[in-house]
Amino acid sequence: MRDEFVERGNLVGSVISFFSPFLSVLPIKGNGYRTISMEVLRPWGCSRPAATTISKKDTMISDDQREHLHTWITVRRVRDTMGRTRVQEWMASISEYLTFRKSLQSFFDEHLKSYCQGKCFDTRRSACCGKDSIIVHFADIAINVLLSADEEIDPILEALTTEPLGFSCVYLGPKGCLWKLTPIVCAMFLCDGLIDVRLKGNRELEETWHCLQEQRKTFTWPDRSVLFDELEKSFLALGVQSPLMHYQYSPGLLRVKRNAGLIKT
Ligand code: SF4
Repeated sequence: MRDEFVERGNLVGSVISFFSPFLSVLPIKGNGYRTISMEVLRPWGCSRPAATTISKKDTMISDDQREHLHTWITVRRVRDTMGRTRVQEWMASISEYLTFRKSLQSFFDEHLKSYCQGKCFDTRRSACCGKDSIIVHFADIAINVLLSADEEIDPILEALTTEPLGFSCVYLGPKGCLWKLTPIVCAMFLCDGLIDVRLKGNRELEETWHCLQEQRKTFTWPDRSVLFDELEKSFLALGVQSPLMHYQYSPGLLRVKRNAGLIKT
């Protein structure tokens, strides 16, 4: 399925060039996160299933869940407002990232998966998904909303409106991770055991892994224009705000941009 998306996204385009034309035709307005939050509290049109609204269960969920939930719903609504051409252009803007994720997945499947399978999946330990809170970027969600059908997003919204159990990631479902394309933080995480057993001492694998880490930076490290930052800016221009826009609000990431001369304040 992921291959299909890479193929569908092989048109050349950048996030900026894609979004700029429709800024004037998509009249979504917002005056800040509070405004957007109130927006998503409104029920959807009659065709939207109940899972996409925030019900009274909202009061039992964590702040993280609430922030994620608002972001998923808001981005999906933006997607649903777009015409087909705009969606295709959005897809084109992430095509290089999808190619990178395909390489990353191949590396994992070829060299690491068997270790994880025996150590964590078969034993149902899933230790790397054992935390109830993970770092998710706005772009992780924006990309997944684009790649996912509503039937794939609805279980995520259900999970986010469920009171957390506290001993595993809220996105960990009975059949594994609910994301179509896992957040970049998860995709690039290697536990100590994996590093010790599979990477250490294997120069070829170490170099490949280093190479993948460098590639990741071209999408996520904001000392230059990067996809994750540009996606946030594009949605901000549409009046969408989210606390998951770390490239706009995280002191650390802002410092990187400042040091690179990309911002002044
Ligand atoms: S988002 Fe998915 S891969 Fe990441 S910790 Fe949660 S269940 Fe695991």
